[in-house]
Amino acid sequence: MAGEQLLGHPKGLFVCFLTEMWERFAFYGMKALLLLYLTKHHLFADADGYLLLGTYAGLAYALPLLGGILADRWIGMRKAVIYGGILLVLGQLGMAWTGHAAEGVQGQAVQDAGAIQIMYFSLALIGVGVGFLKPNISTIVGRLYPEADPRRDSGFTIFYMGINVGAFLSSLIVGYVGINYGWGWGFGLSGVMMALGLVQFMLGRRHLLGQAEPPASHTARTEWLIYAAGVGLTFVVWQVLQTRIDFGPLSALVGGHEVTLTELVAVVLGIGLYAWFIGLLLSGISAAEKGRMVMLMVLITVSALFWGLYEQTYGPWVALADRAMDLTTFGITWNAAQTTAIGALAVISLSPVFAWLWPRLDKRGLNPSYPAKFAWGLVFCGLAFAVLAYATANPAADTGLVSLWWMILAYFVLVMGEMVLSPVGLSAVTSLSIPRAVGMMMGAWFLFSAFGEIIAGRLGTWAAIPPEASREMALATYTGVFTSMMWIGLVAGGLLFLATPLLKRLTREG
Ligand code: GLN
Repeated sequence: MAGEQLLGHPKGLFVCFLTEMWERFAFYGMKALLLLYLTKHHLFADADGYLLLGTYAGLAYALPLLGGILADRWIGMRKAVIYGGILLVLGQLGMAWTGHAAEGVQGQAVQDAGAIQIMYFSLALIGVGVGFLKPNISTIVGRLYPEADPRRDSGFTIFYMGINVGAFLSSLIVGYVGINYGWGWGFGLSGVMMALGLVQFMLGRRHLLGQAEPPASHTARTEWLIYAAGVGLTFVVWQVLQTRIDFGPLSALVGGHEVTLTELVAVVLGIGLYAWFIGLLLSGISAAEKGRMVMLMVLITVSALFWGLYEQTYGPWVALADRAMDLTTFGITWNAAQTTAIGALAVISLSPVFAWLWPRLDKRGLNPSYPAKFAWGLVFCGLAFAVLAYATANPAADTGLVSLWWMILAYFVLVMGEMVLSPVGLSAVTSLSIPRAVGMMMGAWFLFSAFGEIIAGRLGTWAAIPPEASREMALATYTGVFTSMMWIGLVAGGLLFLATPLLKRLTREG
């Protein structure tokens, strides 16, 4: 499996890098604009905006489970990526149909119902498109390297950079175009760039070394059936995205709001997954294997809470930037959507530091265990909220605004948490799981990212304020919410530190 090389890696890595870079460009550009678009153009109430953001992103992280299975069993990775890419382009272009702006007051506004339906359908196309594309493009990367090739880890590091370069560029560019030229131009631009990424992927086919072709079980009939099922699924997701259920008194538990259908599905899936997991523990595996699996399941569960806090960045953090922040630095005035670029920038700058740090700590025997790393992840997350809770409680005396520098600091602290949890989690899945369950546990890892997004949408509703709220009231609300989130991160992190010796004992052989 020689193939052409570039910078010491198979050329196919760069084909995948560019494809995933433009996919994430589309996904994150969209996410950066979504809350602002919903609340300013269609005049959604804050809470509805946060919930839809969580529902949409949650589906986009849950559907890869399905896209991965379909590609493995029937259509192969290359076809799945192309099909997902086409749905993504159509979805982005559909988002560009913005209709007319709502008139009236948030919550009771006269909205363009037709345009909103097109928007839900477009979000469904993007969700299903990501489901087909994201897991499979990552699998192709792994397959470009022979077994036990030492370059594989650095290949994935380069690939993770592609994700964040895409997120960084889109927050800046799509954020700028969407707000200065019109929402539709921003969404449309993402569609055009995704289309170019897809053409690039198709042209680079020979560099994939035949590794992404369909398995022997492939037939043209199943292939077309799957494409048709993908379209059918889009129609289902279109409805799921907008379905809310009123549970009467139970709804009081979630602050009097209705429960989204996605939340219900998530609860059912979560229970199903734990049941499957308990079945696996009882299936006659050794005590040490059991211990490692229990530790892994604890880590995966904790990750949902981490992402639930982390993803506030696309909700309340954007709202704060929009409503009460001085966005001028270096003489440039950024806009609220563009602030989400800081997270990606932090990942790009901190990744090499952590890649350098782990082997060195390891050599000295100081490399923290998995649960300790996850505990640090939660603590960093809590500290990031502490920064913003402090900053929103102490705006500049003359302008009443919070400086952008506080947000930059908060993002860097938050991403320290991401660095000790997200790439480490992927590696934990592959090393702690019993071999026959790795695929399923990897699916569970992403499913819990989806749960995190859904939790984030629900937690975000705490920060909802009415449109007529003054800046002081907005800041006071954000201080309160960020303080609570700080405590959630710190207390959960503290508990995990306490549980760490116990979890470590579970995994010991013997
Ligand atoms: N930021 C990474 C990505 O977009 C991982 C996010 C996650 O697992 N929730 O791929």
